[in-house]
Amino acid sequence: MIQLFLPLNFLGFVYREIRRALTDLENMLGLLKRQPAITDTPGARPLQLTQGEIRFEQVSFAYQPARPILHQLSFTVPAGSKVAVVGASGAGKSTLSRLLYRFYPISAGAIYIDGQDISKVTLDSLRQAIAIVPQDTVLFNSSIRDNIRYGRPDASEAEIDQAIKLAHLRHFIDSLPQGDATLVGERGLKVSGGEKQRIAIARAMLKGSPILVFDEATSALDSASEQAILHAMREVSRNHTSLVIAHRLSTITDADTIIVLKNGQLAEQGKHDALLAANGEYARMWQLQQKQQH
Ligand code: ATP
Repeated sequence: MIQLFLPLNFLGFVYREIRRALTDLENMLGLLKRQPAITDTPGARPLQLTQGEIRFEQVSFAYQPARPILHQLSFTVPAGSKVAVVGASGAGKSTLSRLLYRFYPISAGAIYIDGQDISKVTLDSLRQAIAIVPQDTVLFNSSIRDNIRYGRPDASEAEIDQAIKLAHLRHFIDSLPQGDATLVGERGLKVSGGEKQRIAIARAMLKGSPILVFDEATSALDSASEQAILHAMREVSRNHTSLVIAHRLSTITDADTIIVLKNGQLAEQGKHDALLAANGEYARMWQLQQKQQH
C-alpha cells in the first residue's frame, strides 16, 4: 500500500504545484492585459532628472472617448514639495498617477518632468524616477522580507532593515511568529490594508526614486494605523517631490499645496488654511468629513 501511496502522494504534490504556477501566470497575464501597449517613441532619450519638478500642462484624457475624465488640466508640483490632490470619488485623482507613470497616453496637452515631455523619454528611465505607493498593493507569495526587497532586488540587508524601520513595520514584523521570514500573499498571512501600504512604502524607500506618488487607500483605517502610515510617509517624502492622492483630508493638512479636482478641472488650489478661509469646495468637503468623524 505504502508503495502506491508515496508515488500518488508525490503526483498530488506535482499537480498542486503546477496549478499554483498556472494561477500565478494567469494573474500576471491578467495584469499585463489590462495595460494598453505603451512603448518608447522613436528617438526616445533617457529622462535627465535634475530637480524633480512635475508639470501637467493642459492635459485632457478619457479612458473611453465618450467619457472625458480630465479637461485641459494644468498644475505644477515644484521640486521637493508635497502636493495633495483631493476631490470626489471618481474625480480622476488616481488617473493622474497612472498618466504620470504613462500607463495610458493622454489625448491632449503634455506632462513634463524637469521640462522634459514624458511621452518623449524612455519608459524605463521614467518609471525608475517615480516610486508609486498604490491604493492596493500586490503581495507575492513569499516572505515579507522578499516582498520588501522587491522595491530594489539588489538592496543590501542593512538597507532593507532601514526601510522596515522607517516604514514603521518593525513592531508588526517582530510580532509575527517567523518575523520577516513569515509568508505573505494569497497563500500566506492575511495582511491588513494599513500594513500592506506600509510594505509598499518600504518598497518605495528602497527604490529610492526622487519622485514619490502616494495613492492613499480608500479603505477605512483605524487611527493608529493611519498615524503609522503618516509617519512612514513623512520619512519617505523627505527630500522628495511628492504627489499625494488623498481621500481623508486630515492626512494632508500639511501639504505645500492642495489641488481640488472637479469635473476634470482644477476647482481650487492652495494651502489648507487658505482653502478653508476661501469657504469653497475644499471647505465643504472638510466640513462633511469632520461631521462623518463625529
Ligand atoms: P476614488 O476617490 O474613488 O479612488 P478617483 O478620483 O481616484 O476616485 P479615478 O480612479 O481616477 O478616480 O477614476 C476616474 C474615473 O475614471 C471614474 O469614473 C472611473 O470609473 C473611471 N475609470 C477608472 N479607471 C478606468 C478604466 N481602466 N477604464 C474605464 N474607466 C475608468
